[in-house]
Amino acid sequence: MGNGPSDRLVVIGGGQAAFALIAKLRALKDDRPITLISDEKSLPYQRPPLSKKYLLREMTLDRLQYRPEAWYADHAIDLRLGTRATAIDRAARSVLLSDGTRLGYQTLALATGAAPRHLADSVGGRLDGVFTLRDFEDADRLAEAMRPGRRALIIGGGYIGLEAAAVARTLGLEVTLIEMADRIVQRVAAAATSDILRSLHVSRGVDLREGTGLTHLTDQSGHVTGAHLSDGTTIPADLVIVGIGVTANDRLAHEAGIETANGIIVDLHGRSSDPSVFAMGDCAVLPFADMLIRLESVQNAVDQAEAVAATIAGMPTPYHPKPWFWSDQYDVKLQIAGFGLGHDETVTRAGQREGSASVWYFRQGRLVAVDAINDAKAYVVGKKLIETGTTPDKSAIEDPATDLKALLAS
Ligand code: FAD
Repeated sequence: MGNGPSDRLVVIGGGQAAFALIAKLRALKDDRPITLISDEKSLPYQRPPLSKKYLLREMTLDRLQYRPEAWYADHAIDLRLGTRATAIDRAARSVLLSDGTRLGYQTLALATGAAPRHLADSVGGRLDGVFTLRDFEDADRLAEAMRPGRRALIIGGGYIGLEAAAVARTLGLEVTLIEMADRIVQRVAAAATSDILRSLHVSRGVDLREGTGLTHLTDQSGHVTGAHLSDGTTIPADLVIVGIGVTANDRLAHEAGIETANGIIVDLHGRSSDPSVFAMGDCAVLPFADMLIRLESVQNAVDQAEAVAATIAGMPTPYHPKPWFWSDQYDVKLQIAGFGLGHDETVTRAGQREGSASVWYFRQGRLVAVDAINDAKAYVVGKKLIETGTTPDKSAIEDPATDLKALLAS
């Protein structure tokens, strides 16, 4: 743990993973020089509220920031906000910045996150009134446009689209949500969870159309006025929110000759194909349960970054994801434990309170994930069972008389 500038760790990115990495390094008493490069104007902040309370204007940006400015100075973090890393020179071990400076590194950490997919220009992607949601400035622009009585079209029934729909309805907008797949959240959840969320949104007045895509947007003088949909209908719209997924920000790494495949490929220690370059969070592709996957969640960004911090500090720590996730829609809290991809069976359990339920996912007979809807107990018990590799009897789960906590002892 030396002090010389040759020890420098350069972190590219100023989001969840970047902050977790530097905070953990300092907590481990690692005192090497650290420079953090972020192209955003704000101190590092958390994104989940951007589609929830921040969009509702119930939270301000300073509450989203992990630490105030003084913390970075107190912890000897050289913070370069509003600065973009534009190239990595691996041979020279340096990073080129948008302000023209070149910064040498001993270790490089890529925590560049992901960027929203946009609609193609040919269908109206660049019109005024078309929004994506990734940073606080996106949320500010969108919040400004979300006025009561306006008509919002939401494209994409993933978690961002559904949360935006909930906020829009809560603020008094008329909302149509279209999803090209057969059902909402198809990529990440079982049909039973889609059913529950569909009922929720329909009961709150969302015009929800699955199996329906966008043909093209219409406009007047460059501002969106509506949309032609694949079901043959035309609807009016004052604003359009595009929530059709993200792509990993892996261009810098790719151009530097580091291995990528829709994300920077890393090993269990977060190391890329260049041993002095680590990647973590949304931009990384990692080994998990015989697969190579990207996980887009706070849990992954924090846990992976903390494991990388320990490795950089000289305590090699493999990262084995224990996924969890949440989503807030109206007064409903969805909590997800585990990773349901590749499941072959689900069991649904009615909760004790009205509107609460849980969906339990199995793969080859093993419990792999639980979606808990307003059911904290199912979430906590499910998470513990998955983490300990315990699979309870399916009929016991389904039976509302079963005391879930007793399953932990089984
Ligand atoms: P990010 O937080 O995206 O940070 C990457 C940073 O790197 C950004 O600041 C970016 O501007 C910067 N950057 C990129 N390239 C460069 C460059 N070349 N030079 C300098 N800086 C660069 N997860 C949950 O678990 N639960 C939720 O409820 C939830 N809700 C969400 C709601 C929204 C609206 C969004 C957008 C995400 C949500 N997520 C949620 C996902 C979660 O926020 C992300 O998984 C997490 O932020 C990933 O952290 P990260 O550090 O990898 O990337």
